[in-house]
Amino acid sequence: MSRISFGRHTLKLKALLGIRSRLILLALILVVPLMLDRVRILENSRTQQITTAAAELSQLANHAADAQREIISTVQAVLKSSAYIYGAAHEVGRGCAIMRASLRVDLPWIRSLSVLGPDGKIQCSTNPQIVGMDLGDRGYFRQALETHEFVLSDYIFSRAANLPTILAAYPTSAVEGGTDRVILAAIDLKWLSQLMAHRSGRAGISAYLVDGNGVILAGQSENADLVGQRLKETSLLEAVALREINLDRESGSISFMSADGEKQVVNFARVSGTRARMIVSIKESTLLGDIDRDIRTAYAQLALVALMALLGAWFVGERLIINPIRVLTGMARRFGQGDLSARASNARLPREFKPLARAFNYMAAQLSERERDLVATNDRLTVMASVDMVSGLANRRGFQSRLEFEWLKAEQDGRGLALLMIDVDHFKLFNDTYGHPEGDACLGRVGEALASIANETISFAARYGGEEFCLIIPNADSDQALHAGELVRATVENLGIVHQGSAFRSVTVSVGVAAVRPSALLSPDDLVEAADAALYAAKRRGRNLVVEHALMRAPTAAISLAG
Ligand code: GH3
Ligand code: MG
Ligand code: MG
Repeated sequence: MSRISFGRHTLKLKALLGIRSRLILLALILVVPLMLDRVRILENSRTQQITTAAAELSQLANHAADAQREIISTVQAVLKSSAYIYGAAHEVGRGCAIMRASLRVDLPWIRSLSVLGPDGKIQCSTNPQIVGMDLGDRGYFRQALETHEFVLSDYIFSRAANLPTILAAYPTSAVEGGTDRVILAAIDLKWLSQLMAHRSGRAGISAYLVDGNGVILAGQSENADLVGQRLKETSLLEAVALREINLDRESGSISFMSADGEKQVVNFARVSGTRARMIVSIKESTLLGDIDRDIRTAYAQLALVALMALLGAWFVGERLIINPIRVLTGMARRFGQGDLSARASNARLPREFKPLARAFNYMAAQLSERERDLVATNDRLTVMASVDMVSGLANRRGFQSRLEFEWLKAEQDGRGLALLMIDVDHFKLFNDTYGHPEGDACLGRVGEALASIANETISFAARYGGEEFCLIIPNADSDQALHAGELVRATVENLGIVHQGSAFRSVTVSVGVAAVRPSALLSPDDLVEAADAALYAAKRRGRNLVVEHALMRAPTAAISLAG
């Protein structure tokens, strides 16, 4: 039993899930393409933003390099003009004094200007303390003499100033009429760093100026303490990045995984005309942080929309389809169980289901009307089935069921029950004489008479069959039964229906009477048999008589005894 009901529940669940899951599938079919399109747009935007950021980073490196170049150009211009001035003044024998007096260094990043003789000794300087210092072994000095061009040193520790610095050398031979001397400018790295502080742009970007040997010349103020360190000795850039940068490329972009597990994006650009490079780096997470946050928010929004769509589909399915089906199914089930009073309330149903509900209600009304008709027809048929059409009395069937009912009632109440069997005398002869229709009419009149007697005596009259009738008299003893029999006999005789073939010249009846006190030892058939036997006796004795069955006699007097 439990297995069957479990199976039913499973089926019900499957059916409900079927509709809901289809609705959800529909919702997904509607939502998913929109979601995918949104995801595609977001991913495109991410790619575009990454490209923009990379371009921005590269541009930053180039701009920073250009800015450095501008500083170096100003140094170069100062050196060049110094070379002219020194050359001219030297001819008149006052070279150094004029140069010191006239060449005031008003650029803050030039710490000192010096003139080196062909042997590399400082002949003249804006910093008098270093005059006489021998710089003949310095690479930048030799290179300037050999190439006759502006030379920028790599990072060096200035012996003169006892400070980390870079030096710019310019040979006077590069200008017209110049001798083999070299003008030298010491560049203040602090100024380079300060300049860079204003150039970094996007937050989270680190920028460094690195010389040809990989030594940091300048950094933003927060990284100024790194100035003078070798790039590869810092945690800023990995060896792999350094190697790439050292490949002597003008500019480029690389990315690598740093020691802290974060991806680092690096752009570099050469400061043109020098071996120095501008390096700009940023953590990829910083670079993509905003973009990824936007994308995460967008995905969360999409998930929310999808969830709302699914919940909406579920709710709509439940309210607009499942519930109405449940209501209508419940109604149909009640119809099946015979309860035709069930009606679907239109107010609770969606519009689409209202015609179906109306059809159900109409069907229920029709069915209950038909059922009423059926019950009435059935009742009529039941009555017809137990009524005799000729006499208008109950027929044999009606008689039988009434007899059983009265028997039980008398048995329960402990009262007597009497039965009269009544047979028309010489009726065959009546038919033969007057015809069958006349016979029927005669039976009809006898029936009417019996109905009237039954009414008076509170008894039950029936046609037993053919020309035989009977009368059940409840709560009657033998005497009352005999009186009733006599009443029947006299009434029929007094009808005066002419019957020439009879000795009595009119239609008469013979009556057999039996009265009994019903008990479990007797049956209704015993009563019928007794009354029948009494009737037989009445016939034998000459007809138009009332005879009582002696053996069944109830304890009172009798008019005539069968025997
Ligand atoms: P008895 O006095 O001994 O009763 O003689 P009887 O002729 O009445 O009895 P019998 O049994 O010989 O004949 C009964 C007749 O009743 C025969 C049948 O034609 C007639 N009969 C039975 N039912 C009907 C009926 O419904 N209509 C008509 N017209 N005649 C019927
Ligand atoms: Mg008969
Ligand atoms: Mg008869």
